Formats: sequence, structure tokens, C-alpha cells
Amino acid sequence: MANQINAFEMAQRQFDHVAELLNLDPQVSEILRWPLREFSFRIPVRMDDGSVRVFQGFRVQHNDARGPNKGGIRFHPAETIDTVRALATWMTWKCAVADIPLGGGKGGIILDPATLSNSEKERLVRGWVQVMWRNIGPRQDVPAPDVGTTPQMMAWMMDEYSKLVGAYTPGTITGKPLGGGGSLGRTEATGYGVIYTVREAMKYLKMDPAKCTAAIQGFGNVSQYAAIGFNEILKGKVICVSFYDREDKVSYTVSKADGIDPHFLMTITDQYGSIDKAKAKAAGYAIEDGGEWIKKDVDVLIPAALEGQINNETVNLIAPRVKIVAEGANGPTTPDADEVLKAKNIFVIPDFLCNAGGVTVSYFEGVQNDMNYYWTKEEVLEKLDTKMTIAFQGVLDMSLNRKVFMRDAAYMVAIDRVVKAMQLRGWV
Ligand code: GLU
Repeated sequence: MANQINAFEMAQRQFDHVAELLNLDPQVSEILRWPLREFSFRIPVRMDDGSVRVFQGFRVQHNDARGPNKGGIRFHPAETIDTVRALATWMTWKCAVADIPLGGGKGGIILDPATLSNSEKERLVRGWVQVMWRNIGPRQDVPAPDVGTTPQMMAWMMDEYSKLVGAYTPGTITGKPLGGGGSLGRTEATGYGVIYTVREAMKYLKMDPAKCTAAIQGFGNVSQYAAIGFNEILKGKVICVSFYDREDKVSYTVSKADGIDPHFLMTITDQYGSIDKAKAKAAGYAIEDGGEWIKKDVDVLIPAALEGQINNETVNLIAPRVKIVAEGANGPTTPDADEVLKAKNIFVIPDFLCNAGGVTVSYFEGVQNDMNYYWTKEEVLEKLDTKMTIAFQGVLDMSLNRKVFMRDAAYMVAIDRVVKAMQLRGWV
């Protein structure tokens, strides 16, 4: 998407590199390099003015050897079958590295959601389910929110599915709102999960979190709770976030040297993640160019927006002080930029480990839906912390034992688990 990078080529390049290190059987690689199933379809939607607009939708099911396919649905104007393929592939590795019994999937619609009214969005997501319902469900494929989609949309989709199958089936989709089959802690899950892995990385690197600063790219769901978690769980200081301004069609970095207050910024952010610049300025924030976040003299960088953001052009802007890059986004670093991070000796917490908190609580949501019994927020977050800590340790051990970069180690852990399931099931 960004910087002309094809995300799926990037996902395949990462996989091929590790397949070679692992000396993986080429027949196994052939299965894992490509999604097992892909759906590409058009959804006609009646607009509020009576006209009909046709939207392009996708669902990609990469691999379900370890359990039902799992992964979000993204609404983005630059969505393509290849972005969805890449994200579905990363979901397989994410669920495996977090050791939850699910496979990998992803969906998308080519769309800027801000251009639709609420009722148009409802008809669109119901239309998506009308096309896909025979191929999704708690034992097949379980969608969830991602960039551009919301808990309310998940509730509409669950309702449409339940009507079509004639039975209330909350576990067909996760990330639902509270009171509509959702789980406590799901909203915070991805951002807090990022912070749990940062905490573990700091322990390993012997850094004192309370003395550390961070710069975050983005101000959507992941970034908001990563900022809150960095301040409140680690007692560190976040000095900036960034956002895409829909009106100006450019990004801005919103910074404050003595620390931003994410709770305040959330009160002046619209539903699409745009911060009110005038109100931020009035509260003493500096509004800088969107690319400034990566240049900040901080200990931790958290890219939590879209793929391809740390690339050939931006990687050399990273300040010498940066010790950790925690990938809240999916695919934020290109393979070429990875080489530069290695050379700079920066500790990378790779995306499908770092941001696995969202899908982990999605899994907990499905479990609660199945048993029709719901946990407290404390129970959910405690279980999440345990899962993330174990996942981080498993990858770190692999990295130290095999003397490989953290991303390669995460791939090794994940590929091992998926291959084992395929072998046990007699696929290979
Ligand atoms: N969209 C999120 C991700 O990329 C969550 C997926 C899910 O909960 O299924 O991990």
C-alpha cells in the first residue's frame, strides 16, 4: 500500500526466507505460501438517495489446519486482493504464535467508510454476510474488526448471520459490542497486548520502563490503548501520536515533550481517528508533519497504523537512541528496512507477536460465546497478559537458541506449529 510495496510479496518474502532457514519441505511451503481459499465478490447496496452502488468485497482463508480461519475485515480505499492475502497469511502466523486454536483469514471492502451514512454501512455489512454466510461461522471462519470497521458493524453482521442460519450464533464474529455478545477487554486488547510485549522486551534488555519514552504512529484503536498502556502500565511517557487528517488529506504528528494525555486526545478525536488540531493546539500540543513521529529521540517506536511505514525512505530517520520497535500495525516494516534495523541493533517485536492481543481476546470472546458465560475485565486482561508473556518468551528463546532476528524466530515458532497440525491431520 504505502511506498509501492506489495504486502503479499512482502509476506511471501518473509516466509521464503524462514522456510529456507528451516529447510522446509518444498511441498509444505507450496501449501503455506498461498491462501487455501479466496473469495472475491461484488455487493450491490441501496444508498440513502435511492441509487445503487456496487462495492468490491474479499475474504481470504489462508490456512485452517489449527482451527477455524480467524481475522478482521478492513474497509480501506486502497484495499486489494493482495493486501487481504498478506493480512490473512499474517493471521495464520499470529494465531499460531499466540498458541490459540485458530487459523488465518482476512476480509476487506474497497471503501472509505467515512463516505457512507450509518444505514448505508449497515446495508453494506449485511450484504457482505449475505454473500459469505455459507463459508463463515464459529467452526469455519470467524471475522472481526480491523481498520475502518467497528463493533457496531460486527453486531449487524452477527445479526444477519443468525437470521440466515435461523439460530442466535454470537460466535460467528468477534469484536462485538458489550451487551451484544462482546467481551470485556476486547477494546483495550490489541494496544495492551503491545505493551505487555514491550514490558517483556524491556526486562530482557534491562531497561527501566518508568524512564522510557515512546513515539507512536497512528491514533486508532491500537495506538490509543498502546498509549494508555505505555503511560499507565509501564509508567513511561508517550511524547507523540500521529493521525491522517481526512480534510487536509495528509498526516500530522501531535506531540508534547512532557508527555501526551491519550484520554484527553480521545475526547477530541472523531470516529475515523482524526484529531481536532485547533483543540489540540489550544491544549499545548505541537502539530507537526506526519512523518515526524519516526524521527523522535525516544526509546521505543510503535508503528500502529498501516503496512510499509518503516521502509527504505524512512528507516534511516530513526534516532540512535531507539532500542525497541514494537509493531502494533500489521506489516509496518519492509524486508529491506528490516536489514537496517538489524544493522542498527534495534530489538524488533514483530507484528504478529506484538499485536496478537486483539485476536487473543477475540478467541476469549468466542469461548465465552460458546459457553454463554462471561468473564470480568480483570480475568480477561490477566489471561491476555499470560498468553502474551508466554508467546513473547517462546519467540525470544527461539531467537536466542537459533541466533536469529526476532521476526525470523516468530516465523519459526509459528511455522512449526502450523506444520505440526498439518502433519497430524495428514495434509502433508
Ligand atoms: N484485526 C485484528 C488483527 O489484525 C484482530 C483480528 C481478530 O480479532 O480476529 O489481529
